[in-house]
Amino acid sequence: MKRTVGRDPTENGRLMELSTDVKFVKSVGEKRARAFARLGVLTVGDLLRDFPRAYEDCSAPLTLAEAPADAPCCIRARIEGLSRTRNTFAGGIVTTAEIYDGLNRAEIVFFNNKYIGKILDRGGEHLFYGKVEAGEYTGYKMTAPLMYSPDNAGLIPVYPATSDLPSRAVSAAVKNALDAMGGGIPDSLPSRLIEKYRLLRTGEALKKIHFPKDADELASARRTLVFEELLTLQLGLYGMKSSRSSGGAPVIEDRSGEFTSSLPFRLTGAQARAIADCCADMRSGAPMNRLLQGDVGSGKTAVAAALCYSAAKSGFQCAVMAPTEVLAKQHYDTFLSFFGGTDLRVALLTGSMTAKGKRETKALLESGEIDVLIGTHALITPDVAFRSLALVVTDEQHRFGVRQRGALVSKGVTPHTLVMSATPIPRTLALMIYGDLDITVLDEMPPGRTPVKTYSVGTDMRGRIYAFLKKQIDSGRQCFIVCPAVEESDAGLAAAREYAEKLSREEFAGYGVGLLYGSMKPKDKNRVMEDFASGKLSLLVSTTVIEVGVDVPNATVMAVENAERFGLSQLHQLRGRIGRGKHESFCILISDAQNPDALDRLGIMCRTSDGFKIAEEDLRLRGPGDFFGQRQSGLPDLHIADLQADGRIIAASQKIAREIITEDPTLSKPENACLRKGVSRLFRDYSA
Ligand code: ADP
Ligand code: MG
Repeated sequence: MKRTVGRDPTENGRLMELSTDVKFVKSVGEKRARAFARLGVLTVGDLLRDFPRAYEDCSAPLTLAEAPADAPCCIRARIEGLSRTRNTFAGGIVTTAEIYDGLNRAEIVFFNNKYIGKILDRGGEHLFYGKVEAGEYTGYKMTAPLMYSPDNAGLIPVYPATSDLPSRAVSAAVKNALDAMGGGIPDSLPSRLIEKYRLLRTGEALKKIHFPKDADELASARRTLVFEELLTLQLGLYGMKSSRSSGGAPVIEDRSGEFTSSLPFRLTGAQARAIADCCADMRSGAPMNRLLQGDVGSGKTAVAAALCYSAAKSGFQCAVMAPTEVLAKQHYDTFLSFFGGTDLRVALLTGSMTAKGKRETKALLESGEIDVLIGTHALITPDVAFRSLALVVTDEQHRFGVRQRGALVSKGVTPHTLVMSATPIPRTLALMIYGDLDITVLDEMPPGRTPVKTYSVGTDMRGRIYAFLKKQIDSGRQCFIVCPAVEESDAGLAAAREYAEKLSREEFAGYGVGLLYGSMKPKDKNRVMEDFASGKLSLLVSTTVIEVGVDVPNATVMAVENAERFGLSQLHQLRGRIGRGKHESFCILISDAQNPDALDRLGIMCRTSDGFKIAEEDLRLRGPGDFFGQRQSGLPDLHIADLQADGRIIAASQKIAREIITEDPTLSKPENACLRKGVSRLFRDYSA
């Protein structure tokens, strides 16, 4: 991005630009600029898009008698007489003054504010924002109210403040930046869209989002900026997607009945419906493009297998991709046992196989002697050639990142695609990530599951937790202990490696303790997983690599160290590793965190096992960029749009984005230049 550095760009009477370094904004300077930089605000453009977190409503000032009992409000009153300052026993100072609204008086009180006395002694009329309480001497009292000039009547912006960057300093900087930009803020939307949808010009919207006169102005500014942001997001996502074609997909006969009748269990109603949906798609001649959402344990694999069976019986090949080798291997084993009594040929292709093994598998694939190929990303390298690929199933899709999607799809003619996700993506977000995907939800669990009991405890309980784990192991069960990191990188983090060594030396001496973490060689990882699955290991200390897929029905306890460090959806995925068998299971979240946010999150985990509810909460608490873990979703963080509340604008912007992209796929028409700029700004942190 172009940055103006060195000389003050306003020196020669030139106006600022969006790319101007924020330090040149009046009232900012070098020191504040560093504080802004810590918030990611480097340029004037960043500053103008650092939106208020809330507003203090001073649009309709009240009298003291009208003030609500326990909410802050704005009082218009005059300062009477001089202020008084006294020292407290604790060595601080208290400054008081009296204000009069024409009917009643109130005492206003400030603590340890050396400068306030001088300001108060100037007298005059002001807006006082704060809570009005009953006073001791006068009728009312306000403690440390914020003071604004009556000219400011309107909504006063409140910015996320830090100690070296109070809200007022941000507000002043924004005001100065807006003044210095004059009318020169370029539009982010083509004027035809602004007119057609009766939006505000970008400059006006920015002015009004920071300093709205009233709620109506705020709403119209917000509507424009949310639309801008969502449209930009959609355009960016379209740019990453492979284009969806409308015809020419292989016609696959529904043969799933033969397969499902051979299963050792009866399908749930939801599984049967999902299979029917997919088979209808695959018979239609148009490519299936479907998202299958189902909570952990809802039985997505059987659905995928039924589709693969139908495709193979119709003479086509299938690819099943998993995000990790461990999971790919597990799918492979599952498919082998599912297809045991059939003539389907299933193969595994992963990065850790020998060169010879890979070569042989690829040759068989190319000559059509493999029906179902299971693997990791290794399946999307260019040298893997299918003979007749017709169905691509991707498990836990979000872990691949947006950009990898479509790479495999380009291998077949136009294969049918099924994306399976165990993170129940809220519908709004799913629409956004996957665009015009059809969605099927497995909203029913196979019978005989008992929900996992979840508890949140402090580290002082660790002794008792170990005792509990041992008791479970002694009665034949297996346990997980999950840690957030492998190495002792952060002070206080339970490091999996050292932790596992200590446990096997001390508390769990004589028990089989294993260790599993992400950067292990796939071969070693597989060995540990196999030892755990076969019962050779009874306690597995691991990082989040077990989050996905691992299926050991005999494992009944999971203890999570530093539980506050995990996202809700991640905890839910982890917890899905237990409660898969007939034994009662327990999840113990260990944390000493005291902040309300963390307590809130752990509480949600203890109260609910509904993955959708948890996902919605997670999205609310963390925002979309963070939702799937950093950089995995491929989604930038949004500044203003709210994926829960702005559903209608999402739908509208999606439709408009599609129209724009159809007409101008690369956004290279001059009138779309502003959109292209916006896309690269929003996605600038994302280099895949
Ligand atoms: P997920 O949706 O998390 O991928 P899986 O496909 O791994 O779930 O299924 C979890 C377990 O439930 C597996 O052991 C699977 O064999 C079993 N299962 C799947 N469907 C049913 C069913 N209808 N009845 C009983 N057990 C089932
Ligand atoms: Mg699964």
